[in-house]
Amino acid sequence: MIVHLFFRGFPELADLVLQASGIAKSFGGNEVLKGLSLDVERGELISMIGPSGCGKSTFLRCLNFLEHPDAGSVRIEDVTVACTGKHWSRANEAEAHKLRSHVGMVFQAFNLFPHRTVLDNVMMAPLQVKKMSRDEAQSIACELLAKVGLAAVKDRYPDSLSGGQKQRAAIARALAMKPSVMLYDEPTSALDPELSEEVLSVMRALDDEGMTQLVVTHDMRFARAASDRVLFVEGGEIVESGDPDLMFANPREGRTRRFLRTLL
Ligand code: ADP
Ligand code: MG
Repeated sequence: MIVHLFFRGFPELADLVLQASGIAKSFGGNEVLKGLSLDVERGELISMIGPSGCGKSTFLRCLNFLEHPDAGSVRIEDVTVACTGKHWSRANEAEAHKLRSHVGMVFQAFNLFPHRTVLDNVMMAPLQVKKMSRDEAQSIACELLAKVGLAAVKDRYPDSLSGGQKQRAAIARALAMKPSVMLYDEPTSALDPELSEEVLSVMRALDDEGMTQLVVTHDMRFARAASDRVLFVEGGEIVESGDPDLMFANPREGRTRRFLRTLL
């Protein structure tokens, strides 16, 4: 949900949380990203769709430098990291570290620490990275767990939770660092439909609060109903980007049309 719809017609006034420019990445001779650029406005919920292997995960990972792009730059809030592809210096890594502090990332496989309780999982980054006191970290973690509907299971271990609960815990953990933008890589692909719905409703609630979110998803119903904008990625490029209803009802590009047809 974008609060400042007014800015749509005045791009120079838009409040851009994230600007990625010319992100390129090859693995060996395989050119996976061919210079992707993306501006994300504060409060936007963007769904990224596209066939398997088209580079969606790689792009998300490049946005917070879990993967080093060969070329391009990413600005998030006041931190800019530029890649020349030749040499990744300590200074680059220090900037990338700062940039990551503005990003919350959620993966398909939850990635919770199994030997820690749900509460400890959420408290960990505030304690270790932000050096918060235990009381402060605990109070933030409890508040976030309540927000994602997990207050009652905060002292349990991840293994005893359902997939939907694990993913909501992972979202709470990412939120504990107070990120400016949340990146999700197929957050519901491992979940049954009703458990997916628990996770998607948390994402919708975050959207209502103004969180900025970029979601790689195969859930076309969510992409269409919940997003401000949909990006269709294929062959290492953003083929089409636009209003979800318009794109699903009447895609501009033949490639988008062909992809959407394969889903029917
Ligand atoms: P998607 O998320 O859209 O399914 P990915 O970004 O995971 O696509 O992968 C895009 C392409 O990059 C695939 O061909 C994949 O095999 C390749 N790829 C991804 N990561 C690596 C890696 N670490 N090493 C080599 N190839 C990779
Ligand atoms: Mg992927």
